[in-house]
Amino acid sequence: MHNQALSEMLMAPSCWQTQLSCRTAHAGHLPFESDVVIVGAGIGGLAAALRALESGYSVTVLEAGEVGCGASGRNSGFVVPIPSRHSPASLQHLLGENTAPFLAALSDAAQTVIEYAPSDLTVKGWVQPMAGAARGAADELAKNWVRLGAKVEPMEPQELENALGTTEYAEGLLFSDAGAINPLAFVYRLADTVNRKGGHIIERCSAVDVRPQARWVAVQTQRGEIRAGRVFIAGNAYGSAASRKTRRAISPLALTLATFAIPQVCHAEQLLPFSDNRKDMWFARRLGPVKLLTGCLALPLQRSAKCSALLQDRIKRLYGIVAQAPEQQWAGWVGLTPDGMPKIHHDERIIGWSGCNGRGIALSMLMGQTLMDRLCGINGLRLPLSSGTFRTGNALTWLAQMVIALDRRKQRRTVLAS
Ligand SMILES: Cc1cc2nc3c(=O)[nH]c(=O)nc-3n(C[C@H](O)[C@H](O)[C@H](O)COP(=O)(O)OP(=O)(O)OC[C@H]3O[C@@H](n4cnc5c(N)ncnc54)[C@H](O)[C@@H]3O)c2cc1C
Repeated sequence: MHNQALSEMLMAPSCWQTQLSCRTAHAGHLPFESDVVIVGAGIGGLAAALRALESGYSVTVLEAGEVGCGASGRNSGFVVPIPSRHSPASLQHLLGENTAPFLAALSDAAQTVIEYAPSDLTVKGWVQPMAGAARGAADELAKNWVRLGAKVEPMEPQELENALGTTEYAEGLLFSDAGAINPLAFVYRLADTVNRKGGHIIERCSAVDVRPQARWVAVQTQRGEIRAGRVFIAGNAYGSAASRKTRRAISPLALTLATFAIPQVCHAEQLLPFSDNRKDMWFARRLGPVKLLTGCLALPLQRSAKCSALLQDRIKRLYGIVAQAPEQQWAGWVGLTPDGMPKIHHDERIIGWSGCNGRGIALSMLMGQTLMDRLCGINGLRLPLSSGTFRTGNALTWLAQMVIALDRRKQRRTVLAS
């Protein structure tokens, strides 16, 4: 995408950020010491903070901007219990006998998120329609997911049409333990609970350096130093300064989102959130009776107007409606890894991770909880994930953009041919 256009969209507030006012009330004093210091107040950092507080530790969360200003307050809010870019077979190939326990933990995390999120805009159920799939493909895929313990069932064409308001798909899966939330409202609720339980969240306080000493870990911030017993780095794709190390294991890709006023589609009570199986994924959800949220990956040198036009074309194809220009448009960073799984960085008193691959709400919750247990020496769930010692740089970003561009071209040709 054109650099200037992308920078503007990365700075533009998300629909959640314009709806909920920011909470500067968290700009507190930096304590001298804390049992646990967490870098980053997104879903992952705050889930980790709650876990440490529940285990009786004193907790300080440092946030470079405001609570939820990273991906957690800028995403589409789909809560999905399967990793992106993976089929049952590829996941099993990667995780072996750990696949089912990993999916069960992700499903629990997804359900916790959906139950805990404020009910405003919360929807239960998420559909994965299959574009151009052969008849029976959904039955087969559902069987393979169910074998791994996933809570999923195939949908009949009429069911799909009723659930999505489009005849675009004849095959699809319904995940009953998935759904959609208002992600920023969820993050604010997590932050409120951290405050209530005695944690300190300090906004506009970037961790500049994290250095192990003989008896503590010295965390250098813009406002001075804090001594920590242990440190959790939760900067993810928004990692900067002290959390740059965890960001190195991922390749950043920009995802743009937009809202459109389409009352003709959104008035339907039933409309379920969906993300299809195209490489250049089509996805949408209803936000109340008028608004539809959708988006697409940003390609280099693509102007924001071109993104809007692409999304308007998709809306026309899905619902047969000519949508006006988007009401709001913004973008955020997604962290890719070569195998589509998150990477962990752990030494004795410091732990961190990165790499949601665009599907990180349930995953960040799970990672925050389980990695905090590991950092505190609690014998909890062991995630079958590797460490991220390599550096992929921009190669993976470039590859992903090529795949998307080719898929977009293929889709254009199919439309012209039909
Ligand atoms: C446009 C978009 C759409 C998405 N849609 C979905 C979706 O529908 N479903 C889904 O499951 N996932 C989605 N994702 C992914 C999901 O949003 C993320 O995986 C998840 O929010 C990551 O949470 P986090 O807490 O790990 O990171 P973040 O929310 O990014 O939080 C990291 C925080 O760390 C702070 N930070 C970084 N470095 C420092 C430092 N040195 N000192 C202090 N603070 C620091 C940052 O300011 C930031 O607030 C989407 C992502 C994007 C960008």
